[in-house]
Amino acid sequence: MVSAPGDAAPSGASSPSSQARVSTPGTVLITGASSGVGLFATKALVDRGWHVVMACRDTEKARRAQAALAIRDDAVTHLRVDLGDLDSVRALVDAFHATGRPLDALVVNAAVYKPRLKQPERSPQGYELSMATNHLGHFLLIQLLLDDLKRSSHPSRRLVLLGTVTANSKELGGKIPIPAPADLGDLSGFSAGFKAPITMADGKPFKPGKAYKDSKLCNMITTQELHRRLHESTGIVFTSLYPGCVADTPLFRSTPRAFQLIFPWFQKNITGGYVSQALAGERVAEVVADPAFAVSGVHWSWGNRQRKDGRQFSQELSDKASNPVTAQKVWDLSMKLVGLA
Ligand code: NAP
Repeated sequence: MVSAPGDAAPSGASSPSSQARVSTPGTVLITGASSGVGLFATKALVDRGWHVVMACRDTEKARRAQAALAIRDDAVTHLRVDLGDLDSVRALVDAFHATGRPLDALVVNAAVYKPRLKQPERSPQGYELSMATNHLGHFLLIQLLLDDLKRSSHPSRRLVLLGTVTANSKELGGKIPIPAPADLGDLSGFSAGFKAPITMADGKPFKPGKAYKDSKLCNMITTQELHRRLHESTGIVFTSLYPGCVADTPLFRSTPRAFQLIFPWFQKNITGGYVSQALAGERVAEVVADPAFAVSGVHWSWGNRQRKDGRQFSQELSDKASNPVTAQKVWDLSMKLVGLA
């Protein structure tokens, strides 16, 4: 974990290069850009002059969402992907290469959250579906697009992953034991191949809400491991962020109706953690494009309660998210599960 400008920077931190002081538009691929944070990040990046590849499982829905926000047709490319299916991820990479576009930034954003499942759903490869979608599909996508990022001539190439407070036990939201905190345990579920009857990374009984948290923990671990392995040799900036509690996105569509009504109100009026979809999208765009965010290894946050000054800071991650031994294991096992090792 490294620190942001203004914080004391431990060894390994890299500061913005002189080139990165100029924000240059480029091409960014965003997964799950058909709603919520990804859609509004698309808008914010197009407004900054970027071309956005909207990688979505329903391209018609993505086109409608694009039109609803009046995003110009020539500023986006629509490509289809089901991140829960590793074959579909490979097809997305082929389709992206066929566009002939460079890749200057990648945003790992798509996610599913299904806290009320009684039984696990399975991906075509047989993996529990929230881990397959949120982590494994993205892990494969990252591996297959790394060379594109390396080849880009953009002055500040970035790979940005959406993390969350509920998967970081350094923060209050990450300590909530309902249904259980994020915890990959000894990774025995991954080690044993992660197929039925296994449902969880730690090999323990299925808890759907925890499966989401575990997958987001994997996203944050992946960021840290990418930074450790590749930042120095490639110059790519690897970061994650918690955009705030965007309590009214479709992410919560599988929660009880009463929760969907009360949660945004609670976050607005009680915790002060609420941020709008537009502000969350703007924050993602800043992390992708703005010179102040060209610091690899940082997990950016604006606070659980939203800092009064509205400024970003480098949020400390839990040992579970930053431990290099765990990260190496997650990396090696994920490589096997996606068929790359
Ligand atoms: P959202 O509106 O539900 O957006 C999720 C996106 O992922 C949608 O475009 C969805 O596509 C897509 N998606 C789901 N499954 C997919 C699959 N198998 N293949 C391809 N795309 C798929 O949720 P959101 O709140 O904006 O969440 C975006 C990111 O922010 C997530 O990574 C989430 O963990 C993170 N985050 C959110 C919050 C929050 O409070 N909302 C807080 C912290 C972090 P469809 O339109 O087809 O469903």
